Amino acid sequence: MVLNVRVKCLYCRTKAVQRASTRPARSARSRRLAVTNVTTAIKKSVLLTARGWTGEAYSGGWFRGAGDQMPVIEKATLSQLAVVDQITTAQLDQVAERARDARKGWAADPQLRRSVLLRACEILEANRGEVVEWIVRESGSIPAKGNGEVTDSIAELANAADLATEEHGVILRKGGTELTSVAERVPYGTVGIITPWNVPLLLAMRSVAPALGLGNTVILKPDNQTAISGGILIARVLEEAGVPSGVFNVVPGAGTVIGEALILHPLVGLVSFTGSTMTGRRIASLAAPLLKKVALELGGKNPHVVLADADVDGAAASGAWGTFQHQGQVCMAIGRHIVDSEVVDRYTSNLVARAAILRQGDPFVDEVELGPLINERQAAHVEEIVEDARARGAVVVGGERHGAFMPPTVISGVVPGMRAYGEEIFGPVAVVIAAKSDEDAIRIANDTEYGLSASVHSADLLRANSVADRIRSGMVHINAQPINDNPWSPMGGLGASGSGGRFGGPANVEMFTTWRWRTTRTVPERGFFPEPKSQSGHVSLD
Ligand code: NAD
Repeated sequence: MVLNVRVKCLYCRTKAVQRASTRPARSARSRRLAVTNVTTAIKKSVLLTARGWTGEAYSGGWFRGAGDQMPVIEKATLSQLAVVDQITTAQLDQVAERARDARKGWAADPQLRRSVLLRACEILEANRGEVVEWIVRESGSIPAKGNGEVTDSIAELANAADLATEEHGVILRKGGTELTSVAERVPYGTVGIITPWNVPLLLAMRSVAPALGLGNTVILKPDNQTAISGGILIARVLEEAGVPSGVFNVVPGAGTVIGEALILHPLVGLVSFTGSTMTGRRIASLAAPLLKKVALELGGKNPHVVLADADVDGAAASGAWGTFQHQGQVCMAIGRHIVDSEVVDRYTSNLVARAAILRQGDPFVDEVELGPLINERQAAHVEEIVEDARARGAVVVGGERHGAFMPPTVISGVVPGMRAYGEEIFGPVAVVIAAKSDEDAIRIANDTEYGLSASVHSADLLRANSVADRIRSGMVHINAQPINDNPWSPMGGLGASGSGGRFGGPANVEMFTTWRWRTTRTVPERGFFPEPKSQSGHVSLD
């Protein structure tokens, strides 16, 4: 059976652009001028170009990066939207010094932090349309997902404005001669933030906003594939909001060069990383000898458990939403549909019917539920995992891949030994695994090194919760799907999904500040050592 997925011949348009992009490369400078001449996206971009932005990085103003220039590509058409300068490690040193010099004033002025962050909320809202367009074209998202990112980013900024003026600390019991003893939460100084391309604005903002609100200065390195919506636009918003020089900085560059230099930099006190488990392991190994704190938010293979008494139609609707949104390129997306064998056939055909009506195309011009994957390499990787399952006997229902457009696909009969069973796919692929009982479903759910999010469906809430209790994950949702996140709830995972930190709500204070115990005495502490005989306290050393 082949799914009736309407790709609207968009890949023909993509091919035409691909052909155009095989022309010989021009010099970096002439390429930049050519791009500014041809692109319509950038001309319309008022927020981006209001101060004459032509590709610069940001640190107390816009500056030319001395590294290679990097094209910003529209993911559905492969046309070039802009170019961004990459910086060099020598320039990173200067940025880090500026961020260090800005620390004291920023940390000491909570009212200023609050007002900058609240003003940033207004500016982001006022420029919502333009920001959504960048997210759609630069990351291949549908507009609803871009809008969601803007809404949640505004909430992150508002939440961080509150963090700026709330007290974070406790008054401690006094011991002995102390006048006061308090434990206060203090900023780390400068926080390095490294982010991925899939939800570029929000995954940057969820670290940037609380880090700034709690008094840190920030150096953000977005992914090169989404440097505008993941970094440059945030700098423009904060610049318009009046952020002081050096407090917020954006440093486009390759992960292995600027990313690693940021982790190793002596002026960076904390690194907040969101990305793949493989890169997370590399970062942990770089930071370990420095004894530097790194907060790692990594991949997932999230279980969606459907028990025998579940509402099968509702569980399949949740299952489709949790698998196919943003083409499955979400860390919390369902990695495995673990379905009781009593209902697995009904569930699978329901899921297939839901996948079949999803439209895929260019989300900027077509009314679709799915856009392209981030690039053709990623789509080919997803296809390989599907083909491995097919070759090993699984039943695959889905259409053909065209370039970066991988259609929604359902694979049933997945068993251990198939790549689809254990690997994070990061594509629009539903992996269905049959379970013999609740106990078997729990065993399969935990048969992974990941532990990010999970969901359990059952008509019996006690039964669902007792299954959920035994699934190893940082988040779990009953009668829902695993992609659930908001600025007020702690988001993060266990095992290969992260190093134990969390984003959101009270977790932000834990993540972006550290404890300092402070005591004050009215008279000097003398200790138990004997006093010298001389009345003056002076002892001759002769
Ligand atoms: P990635 O690890 O390849 O890249 C993420 C960022 O790290 C990019 O900015 C990249 O330039 C940088 N980077 C790459 N190598 C680096 C290095 N050696 N040192 C420092 N920085 C380096 O990840 P990706 O492919 O962009 O993102 C997809 C992955 O992210 C998936 O595995 C997904 O599950 C995960 N993710 C996790 C969360 C979460 O909150 N847990 C959220 C979104 C995505």
